[in-house]
Amino acid sequence: MRAHHARRSCLGWLRRLARRWQGGHPLFSRLRIGTRLAWMMALAMLVAVLLAAAGISGLAASQDSLRLVYEDRMKPVRALAQISHLMLSNRLQLQIALDEGAIVHRPGAADAVAEELAHNMEAINALWAAYQGNLDDAQERALAQRFASRRDQYVQEAVLPAITALRTRAYHDIGRPASRAHALYERAQPDIQALINLQFDAAQAAYSAGVQRYQQTYRGAVGALVLAMAVLTLLGVLLIRSIVGPLRHVIKVFRHIENGKLDTPIRIRGKDEISAVMRALQALQRKLRANEKAIDQLVYYDPLTHLPNRRLLRERLHSALEASGRDHRHRAVLLLDLDNFKTVNDTLGHEVGDQLLVDIAQRLRGAVRASDTIARLGGDEFVILVDDLPPQQTCAKEELGAMAQQLLALLQKPSRLANQVHRSSASIGISLFRHNNTTIKELLKRADVAMYQAKNTGRNGFCFFDPALQARLEHRMSLQDALHGAIDAGQLQLHFQVQVNAQRQATGAEVLLRWTHPHFGSVSPAQFIPVAEESGLIVPLGEWVLQQACMQLKRWESHASTQALVLAVNVSARQFAHPNFLVQVQNALAHTTANPARLVLELTESLMLHDIADTIHKMQTLRRQGVRFALDDFGTGYSSLTHLKRLPLHQLKIDGSFVQDIVTEPSDAAIVQTIIGMADNLGLDVIAEGVETEDQRQALLHLGCPLFQGYLLSRPLPLAQFEHWLAHHASVPTAPSNAPQPAAAWAG
Ligand code: C2E
Ligand code: MG
Ligand code: MG
Repeated sequence: MRAHHARRSCLGWLRRLARRWQGGHPLFSRLRIGTRLAWMMALAMLVAVLLAAAGISGLAASQDSLRLVYEDRMKPVRALAQISHLMLSNRLQLQIALDEGAIVHRPGAADAVAEELAHNMEAINALWAAYQGNLDDAQERALAQRFASRRDQYVQEAVLPAITALRTRAYHDIGRPASRAHALYERAQPDIQALINLQFDAAQAAYSAGVQRYQQTYRGAVGALVLAMAVLTLLGVLLIRSIVGPLRHVIKVFRHIENGKLDTPIRIRGKDEISAVMRALQALQRKLRANEKAIDQLVYYDPLTHLPNRRLLRERLHSALEASGRDHRHRAVLLLDLDNFKTVNDTLGHEVGDQLLVDIAQRLRGAVRASDTIARLGGDEFVILVDDLPPQQTCAKEELGAMAQQLLALLQKPSRLANQVHRSSASIGISLFRHNNTTIKELLKRADVAMYQAKNTGRNGFCFFDPALQARLEHRMSLQDALHGAIDAGQLQLHFQVQVNAQRQATGAEVLLRWTHPHFGSVSPAQFIPVAEESGLIVPLGEWVLQQACMQLKRWESHASTQALVLAVNVSARQFAHPNFLVQVQNALAHTTANPARLVLELTESLMLHDIADTIHKMQTLRRQGVRFALDDFGTGYSSLTHLKRLPLHQLKIDGSFVQDIVTEPSDAAIVQTIIGMADNLGLDVIAEGVETEDQRQALLHLGCPLFQGYLLSRPLPLAQFEHWLAHHASVPTAPSNAPQPAAAWAG
C-alpha cells in the first residue's frame, strides 16, 4: 500500500516537471538552437567516453583476474615440483644416513634425519592429496595412478624402513631402504615430470587463450567506442543541420517579409514541426502577397478603368524626370480630356458614362507603347507619359503629333452606348521635357494649359504647351485671386451708360461694373467677368451689382429728373442658372423697395443653351413681378427662334459689331434691319448699342431703331458724373404716373 502511494507521488512529480518544462527549460532558450544541440552532443559524447572508460577499466580488472586464474592453475605444477623436491630431499637425507660416521658420532643426528624424513613424507602426502583433487584429463589420471602406486611403494619400501632403522639405530639396515629410495625416486621422477609438464602446458594454454580473448575484447571495445563516437557525431551533425538549417531559412524568409520582399521561395521537405511552421509561413507569405497586390491595386490603380491613378503617375513622372537628367532624350506628358463627356453623363446617366470611360481606357491602353504609362487622373482626364523620344525637338514633336493624331482617330471610332452609336473626341495638351528641368507639378500644369488651349481652339485636337498662353492664364489666376476680396476692399464701382431715344432723351442707363485694383489698375469687365464666371464668383458679384442697382433706382425715384429712368443690369448665364437667382433678385427689390418695373435684366443668348424650361420659369416668375428682360449682344450668339418666341422678353439689344460698320457695310445694315423687323414682329423693343457716330445713329434711325446707347451719347460714367451729364445733356421723358408705363417711356 505504501509502495503504491510512493509510486503515485513520484509519477505526479514527474508529470508536474514535464508540464513545467513543456516549452523547454528557460536556460536552454538563452542559447542558440545549434549551440544547444552541440552542447547536448558534447554531453552525450562525455557520457559515452565515461561509459567506455568504465568498460576499459573493467577489461583491465578482467585481465587481473585472468592472472589470478593462471596463478591458480599453476598451483598443482608447484605441488608436483615440491613432491619431486621432497623425494629428492629424502634421498639426500638417506644418503647422509648411509654415512655412519655422520650419524653415529653426532648425537641426535639419526633422530633428526628420521624426523626430517617423516616430515617430508607428511608434506608429500598432503601435497599429493591436494593435487589429486584437480584431475580432469585421462592421460593425467593414468600417470597419477602410476605415480601413486610408486609413491606407496616408495613409502613402504624405502621411507618407512629407513625411519625405523634410524630410530632403532640399526644403521646397517639403512643401506637397503636408501638404495630403494634412490631407485624408486629415479623411477617416479619421469612420471612426476610428465605430470608437471601436463599441468604446466594446460595452465599455459588456458592463460594464452585468456589473453587472446582479452585482447580481442579490448580491441572490439575500443573499435566499438570509436565507431559509436563517429556515428554519434554524424547523427548529431545531421540532427543539428536538420533543425538549424530549416530554422535559418524560416528566419531568412521572415527578414525578407520584414523588408517587404514577399517572393522568397520556401522549400518544404518534411512533415515535422518546422515543416509545419514553414507551411504556415508559406501561406502567410501568399496572403501578404495577395493583400499587397490588393492594396497596390487600391492605392495605385483607378478602380473603374484599372489604369494607374494619379499617385502611380506621380511616381512614374518622378522616375522619368530623374532619368531625363541622365540622357538627352525628350519625354512628354499628354493630358487628354474628353470633349463633352459631361453631356454623356447628364443625358445617358453615370453608368453609361463609366462604360464609356472603360471603353476609352481600353482603346488608349492598346495605343501606347509598353514603356509608356497611361493613367486616369479622375473624371474624363487621362495622362500619357511618353518615355522615349528623340533628342531633337522637331523630331520629338513630330512623333508626338503623330501619336496624338492616332489617339484622336482612335477615340472617334464609334462605340455603342445605351443602344446608341457614340463617337468620342478629346482635346490633348502636350508638354515636352528633358534634362530634368522642371517639376511634376509644372509638367502637369503645362499639359493642362496646352489642353485648355486645344479646347479653346475648337476641341478634338492637340496643342503643345505655349509659355505665352501660360502667362495669360497665370494673369487670369492672379486676377481671380484678387477678385475674391474686391467687394470688401471697395474696389468695385458701378458706372452708368445712358440709353436715349430718337430725341436724345435719356430713357435709362446700363449698369457696367468697374474694378480698380491697387496693383493691376483698372481691369476691364471683358477680362474679369469671364474669370468671375469661371470661378463662380459671379454669383456674389452679381448679387452685389443687383443690390447696388436697386438702391440706385430707389434713390432716383425721389427725383423728378430721374424717377422715369430704367436701369439695365447685366446678368451672366451662370448667375442666372444659379438656384438662388430668383431669391437674389427678389431680395434686392424687397430690401430696397425699388420699383421692379424700372429694372431690366440683360441676358445673353447663351442662356438658351441651358435648361430652357428653367430659364422660362425664372423669367416668367420675375416678369410677373414687373421685372423686364433684354437680350444682350443680339445677333452674335446662338439663338433658336423657337426658344426666342417662348421667352418673356421685352427688348433686343443689337450688338455693337453690327452698328460699327452699318454705314459702310450693306450686309450689317441688312442684319440690323432684319433684327428690327423681327423684334417688331415678336412685339419686342429694340436698342442699338455701341453707337459711336452721328452717321451710325442716322442710319439706325433710318432703319427704324428707336433707342440708342454708345459713346456718341456718353461713355459709361461714375454716378456723380452720370447725374451731371443727365442734368446738362438730356432731358428725361417724364413718367405719366406712379405706376410706370414703360412703353410710353421707351416710345419717347
Ligand atoms: P455689354 O453688356 O454688351 O456692355 C456694353 C459694352 O460696350 C460695355 O463695355 C461698354 O463700355 C461698351 N460700349 C458702350 N458704348 C460703346 C461704344 O460706342 N463703342 C464701343 N466700342 N464700346 C461701347 P464694358 O463696360 O467693358 O463691358 C463689357 C461687358 O462686360 C459687358 O458687355 C457685359 O457683358 C459685361 N459686364 C459689365 N458689367 C457687368 C456686370 O455687372 N455683370 C455682368 N454679368 N456682366 C457685366
Ligand atoms: Mg449689357
Ligand atoms: Mg452688349
